[in-house]
Amino acid sequence: AALPIRRALISVSDKAGIVEFARFLADRGVEILSTGGSYKAMADAGIPVKEVSAHTGFPEIMDGRVKTLHPKIHGGLLARRDSDEHLEAMTDYGIAPIDLLVSNLYPFEATIARGASFDDGIENIDIGGPAMTRAAAKNHAFVAVVTSPVDYEPLRLEIASNGGTLGATRRRLAAAAFARTAAYDAAIAGWFAEVEGETFPPRLSLSGKLAETLRYGENPHQAAALYLTGTPVPGPATAEQLQGKELSYNNILDADAAFEAVSEFAEPAVVIVKHANPCGVAVAATLGEAYAKALICDPVSAFGGIIAANRPIDGATAQAITALFAEVVIAPEITPEAAAVFAAKANLRVLKTGGMQDPKQRRRILRSVAGGFLTQTRDDAAPVASELKVVTRKAPTAGQIDDLLFATQVAKHVRSNAIVFAKGRITVGIGAGQMSRVDSVKIAVAKAAEAATAAGETGSRIAGSVAASEAFFPFADGLVALVEAGATAVIQPGGSMRDREVIDAADAAGIAMVFTGRRHFRH
Ligand code: 5GP
Repeated sequence: AALPIRRALISVSDKAGIVEFARFLADRGVEILSTGGSYKAMADAGIPVKEVSAHTGFPEIMDGRVKTLHPKIHGGLLARRDSDEHLEAMTDYGIAPIDLLVSNLYPFEATIARGASFDDGIENIDIGGPAMTRAAAKNHAFVAVVTSPVDYEPLRLEIASNGGTLGATRRRLAAAAFARTAAYDAAIAGWFAEVEGETFPPRLSLSGKLAETLRYGENPHQAAALYLTGTPVPGPATAEQLQGKELSYNNILDADAAFEAVSEFAEPAVVIVKHANPCGVAVAATLGEAYAKALICDPVSAFGGIIAANRPIDGATAQAITALFAEVVIAPEITPEAAAVFAAKANLRVLKTGGMQDPKQRRRILRSVAGGFLTQTRDDAAPVASELKVVTRKAPTAGQIDDLLFATQVAKHVRSNAIVFAKGRITVGIGAGQMSRVDSVKIAVAKAAEAATAAGETGSRIAGSVAASEAFFPFADGLVALVEAGATAVIQPGGSMRDREVIDAADAAGIAMVFTGRRHFRH
């Protein structure tokens, strides 16, 4: 049966829709109690309402820090209506039952999102609101709690047709209320951790705000949603979508991989990603040139790919991109000319991030495992020329060093085992995600040959290129395969028990090899 509402407490920071909802309650004879600002909003609209301070006989004190923290309020919210002892306590202490709480909290999240000062952040931590919200939610057997204006209308309809609130509704509202206070506290804890310099492993396990329910997950029979955590970072989760179909789970994942990879480069660069792996990367003098060069690596795979750029996309580059079918374009800016070009491809999703990521930013990465999740700091390392250790008799030329560094930066973003061939800061062969390193080499070589044949080239693209391996060669066979394919210099972390054999093989082949001392697994 429905529980009638005789008394409601309304204390809201977001006052949207509150006057209408309160008027509905007042018209049904509900006594409304309220705090300062909410009281004023309703009283100004001519709604009969009583101040909490008049109800408790205790004023609001300390800039509102203590408004509703009073036994007459918390007793009214927490009393079990089916307990003689609770009813007796209510009589003894003059506590009146409160059947409905309408509360939304001080806007803590919005305050920190606009970069407010530490003191401002602290002042915007609501104390009494969450206390009341949790009290009402705990006592949902008798009390309804509303924490969001979106619930006003459905609740109004329910009360109008049933004369009160239904048990199932009160339970659902209680679940939403606890989710709200949990998210609120997580936001506070996350902000504090950021301000204080986050420890690792983090004390706070997970905090996120539901940003969007996605149509489905990796496959249509999987449910999915996107959450946002902490300080906004440029990327698909926070980007402005200028046009195109709704972003899917896979779109977000792939665009994230592409954008993070392209953020690695200081000069104009384009990364084309397919199924979370780069299938073409290039750095060049202009973005248009970088796109054209990124595309030559594997144009077959690039079809239906995700294209990420680290410079504003101009009209000419947009023209070149639309010549091929792409799923998503992501860039810091899209010029008006480019936007006009993209507009002709209505389905193409175009994302403007407003900025690039700092490849050195220390961030937290989460991966789920059955029954839990793993967390690690991001792979924020990149090789620099001065750290390279030449291990062969032959040293790489300056041009080769350039390409070796580029190839490793790309390999870092390729699923292990990763092999990347590069020439002139263009990828010419990528082998990804194989269980054996030799197989990754074979795939990279085969794809390079296929692309060259399709482009009508006669020579090998691998000949004269350099190669990167994101982890060491456990045996010499992988290295030998690179050399046989035509690589003239190799970069790898080193550190294998058989490094000596691998170095000897490189010397025997007369190529240059450098060790970085740092592995870049990506599983
Ligand atoms: P109003 O605008 O009505 O003056 O204040 C409403 C806000 O005060 C709501 O966001 C509510 O959660 C919050 N609030 C209610 N009681 C207390 C309290 O005792 N202490 C604090 N810090 N906030 C409260």
